[in-house]
Amino acid sequence: ENLTKHFPLGGGFFSRKTGAVKAVDGVSFTLNRGETLALVGESGCGKSTTGRLVLRLLDPTGGRVTIDGVEISSLSKRELRTLRRRMQIVFQDPFASLNPRMTIGDILAEPLLLHGMADKQTVDAKVKELLAIVGLAAAYAERFPHEFSGGQRQRIGVARALATQPDLIVCDEPVSALDVSIQAQVVNLLQDLQARFGMSYLFIAHDLAVVRHIADRVAVMYLGRIVEIADKAVLYSAPKHPYTRALLAAAPVPRPGARDQRSLLTGDVPSPVKPPPGCTFHTRCPYATDLCKTESPAARTFPDGATVACHHVETLPPSEALALSTDP
Ligand code: SF4
Ligand code: MG
Repeated sequence: ENLTKHFPLGGGFFSRKTGAVKAVDGVSFTLNRGETLALVGESGCGKSTTGRLVLRLLDPTGGRVTIDGVEISSLSKRELRTLRRRMQIVFQDPFASLNPRMTIGDILAEPLLLHGMADKQTVDAKVKELLAIVGLAAAYAERFPHEFSGGQRQRIGVARALATQPDLIVCDEPVSALDVSIQAQVVNLLQDLQARFGMSYLFIAHDLAVVRHIADRVAVMYLGRIVEIADKAVLYSAPKHPYTRALLAAAPVPRPGARDQRSLLTGDVPSPVKPPPGCTFHTRCPYATDLCKTESPAARTFPDGATVACHHVETLPPSEALALSTDP
């Protein structure tokens, strides 16, 4: 609810910089049980920071996170530990996130023992069970991370997240570092696991193509804010915010007959230290008016359920019907 995270700049002896990076600047959303909400935007838009705020790996500058009605900033250390068990993260780079000196068995045993999910007698069996759940052979427990391919390492990362039987997994660009052919396998695995265990995913990605298969709802972020949030079918077939349209046009999704709108997304993302006044997208928006340069658009909800922060949704040229294919 209205989450903000501002990182102060500078502070070093030689630093002349002042101010703050407004990484997250008033983000609100709900994530339902068993649901996948995709958080999509260009790098630096604040999506990873949002994921870390949700998990309380970072403390917010403002706003609050509640899980099952409990505000997590008010929790004691002990309560926070229980919460940690319920909320896990899968990182983008499975290699960097796995200790190269530990065997896979030890890597998976760690959370099991730490959170009391297993004891010395049962831990080996639990590790094998976790490996089987993510489609890896039990014998892999003896091996080290460098002996695995990127896709296999990400399966191990997923197994580690599953060890504590979490209710929520923040997937921070879990397939961005993988070959395209492997991406679908990992996305399918995550979907199968959700169908089986019912956890929620906050699925972070930098393009809309990756999440079109897995997401139930999609939130599009720009410069620390959510500019559009909608059910997947609505977002892909009737994108409203000019930035969402530009992202869709840039996504490598086959859309027969669609005009190439790539030119919509020109220019660099402005600095989050000094975001543009008014609508922060106005420096790149082909539809910007004088109003956009001075007044920040409030989020409004439309009849199809999409919530969009743009002054001119009603008068923008109609977006092309973007056929939602059934498979990536
Ligand atoms: Fe573009 Fe204006 Fe809408 Fe911002 S408010 S997205 S600048 S039309
Ligand atoms: Mg990131």
